[in-house]
Amino acid sequence: MNLILFGPPGCGKGTQAKKLVDGRGMVQLSTGDMLRAAIAAKSALGQKVEPIMARGDLVPDEIVIALIEERMPEAEAAGGAIFDGFPRTVAQAEALDAMLAGRGKKIDRVVRLLVDEPELLARVTGRFEQQGRPDDNPETFVTRLAAYNKQTAPLLPYYGSTGKVREVNGMGTMDSVAADIAAALDEVEA
Ligand code: AMP
Repeated sequence: MNLILFGPPGCGKGTQAKKLVDGRGMVQLSTGDMLRAAIAAKSALGQKVEPIMARGDLVPDEIVIALIEERMPEAEAAGGAIFDGFPRTVAQAEALDAMLAGRGKKIDRVVRLLVDEPELLARVTGRFEQQGRPDDNPETFVTRLAAYNKQTAPLLPYYGSTGKVREVNGMGTMDSVAADIAAALDEVEA
């Protein structure tokens, strides 16, 4: 099963991905986590992406595509992956489709988490206060949301035509959202 968790910053993609890892033994591929690890390791890649992420802009497609490609064998061995925060542009979606097709695989389900903007801001502000992630500050959040609306939301028609998208109300409790996601996945597996 290859799943894309889709939605704006703060909609709960990471939280729900971790629940699926624990509950179903799926592998989470979060490009945001990979990039933060590169920054923490002070690698050349980390130094390149740090200012871009601090501004709230998207990093270049080729960087995140290469990160995902590196992890493909691990995902394949696990029987599929949860793509969290990737793809974020049409070019990334096309590259992902090509990578999977090259392995005889495909995206099985896209779950779109719906959360309204005031709730997103409240969540990201709360996370900023608790975890201090620099790009969660309210000013940068505005840029991240604009990047989502301009560059990532256009992916919806890309996937919409495939019939793979399911919308889940992301405003409920963590467990009710997880239950709705599980239903959308069980439908694929049935
Ligand atoms: P996230 O943890 O998914 O919210 O990502 C944090 C930041 O990492 C984003 O604001 C971007 O700067 C960068 N990033 C993560 N994933 C991608 C991606 N697929 N394409 C471009 N930039 C990304």
